[in-house]
Amino acid sequence: MRDYLKFYIDGKWVDPIEPKTAEVINPATEAVSGHISLGSPADVDKAVAAARRAFASYSETSVKDRLDLLETIQAEYLRRERELGEAITEEMGAPISLGCGFHTLLGKGHLGTAIEILKEYKFEEERGVTLIRKEPIGVCGLITPWNWPMNQTCVKIFPALAVGCTMILKPPQLAPYSAQLLAEIIDAAGVPAGVFNMIQGKGSVIGTALTTHEDVDMISFTGSESVGIQIQKDAADTVKRVGLELGGKSPWIVLDDPDLATNVAGATAGMMGNSGQTCSAGSRLLVPNARMDEAKAAAREACEGVTVGDPNGNFAMGPVVSMDQYKDIQRYIQLGIDEGAELIAGGPGKPEGLEKGAYVRPTVFLSNNQRTIDREEIFGPVLVMMGYDDLDDAIEIANDSNFGLGGYVSGQDLETARALSKRMRTGAIWINGAFDFHAPFGGYKRSGNGREWGEFGFEEYLEVKSVIGWNAA
Ligand code: NAD
Repeated sequence: MRDYLKFYIDGKWVDPIEPKTAEVINPATEAVSGHISLGSPADVDKAVAAARRAFASYSETSVKDRLDLLETIQAEYLRRERELGEAITEEMGAPISLGCGFHTLLGKGHLGTAIEILKEYKFEEERGVTLIRKEPIGVCGLITPWNWPMNQTCVKIFPALAVGCTMILKPPQLAPYSAQLLAEIIDAAGVPAGVFNMIQGKGSVIGTALTTHEDVDMISFTGSESVGIQIQKDAADTVKRVGLELGGKSPWIVLDDPDLATNVAGATAGMMGNSGQTCSAGSRLLVPNARMDEAKAAAREACEGVTVGDPNGNFAMGPVVSMDQYKDIQRYIQLGIDEGAELIAGGPGKPEGLEKGAYVRPTVFLSNNQRTIDREEIFGPVLVMMGYDDLDDAIEIANDSNFGLGGYVSGQDLETARALSKRMRTGAIWINGAFDFHAPFGGYKRSGNGREWGEFGFEEYLEVKSVIGWNAA
């Protein structure tokens, strides 16, 4: 049982001002796995005041001081990486190989990338008579979701620390453990009091207290579209900067070439990773109509090959994050059937033998980009395939979405993939599974505003000041 009842405020582990706790449920067993405290606006006031006080000195620290801090955090992160992975598995159900693998690797990657960039980053630049200086924006509220917990906390905290901001982290209530351990890591590394603060609790309470707070300068939010819209409205009265990383319904175009079956299989298995709970998942798989039978067979075989079970066992997929999420995904699967999509693999209900726990059957539909399952983010292991006649048709289908987070192209012809990438209206395109920690990440359209990852992630936390007349004319 994990009981994480204290918050990290002003360099100390403290009790909440008003004692209130909530249970945390393990999605693999539906049993209580621990408790957290639920904070109140008074805790937020205390943390914001500490962050404001700390900003005066932390924003003036040297690059060397901040590099030393980040490198000490890095050593501590590496020392406790296994524990972080185990916490992720317990809180949101990722298989242990994934929790202790890609999940913690992403956090480590963002930390290492922040260190690399900070070593080279130019905070000042002279242009003619003017000095352009990039300065930390101030006190930041960081609000994160449960689906890739270390990725989303680390991609915010480390650039913010690197540029000299102070912050309050509000982790997701469903997956609070790994954030608590991360706060322990940052504390053990000797972060100056008030620079980093962490309060657990409800989004509607802690999140709103941060987004409406007079003394918070910016909000970085990752989560659902509906909450993103609310946050932007709540932050408007204090004219805060708001960075939003929201949902997606990302198209994956498979080219008509000899690798088609392999590429369809790869995209299908990829969709089921992390139980389909990835904002940038390639959830709409576009295949040439002329090869549809072959594509259907490859998708069916790949989907049926995804093993599902206890996240502490040797399975490709664990449960989804909660029984509420399970029910929501079941509703979408039923909607797909009711609206006439062709079920290719999987379907409603739980996988055989897994009666307890939030386990979903990996599912593939064939559809037409017009049904509810084609248009809304399901956030579960449900892939929708659709056919295209030619590449113009593929682009039209790919761009016919309210979202614009990711896009994928798989195929042998790099020139064709490059040409398609120019025409896709999404913030990132991945060609043939390439990966880069320095590539900016963020959405077009309703997938959000702003860019995280790499150098662009630094700029989220910087103001730009012009000093005109710095040089004589
Ligand atoms: P969510 O929007 O329900 O919650 C995200 C965070 O916001 C949580 O910490 C929650 O407590 C908090 N919150 C809730 N209401 C709030 C309010 N009124 N004011 C302030 N904060 C509030 O999202 P979720 O269910 O935790 O995560 C899944 C969603 O996140 C999916 O839509 C997914 O696509 C999206 N996501 C996007 C990215 C990206 O980078 N674009 C990455 C991962 C997840």
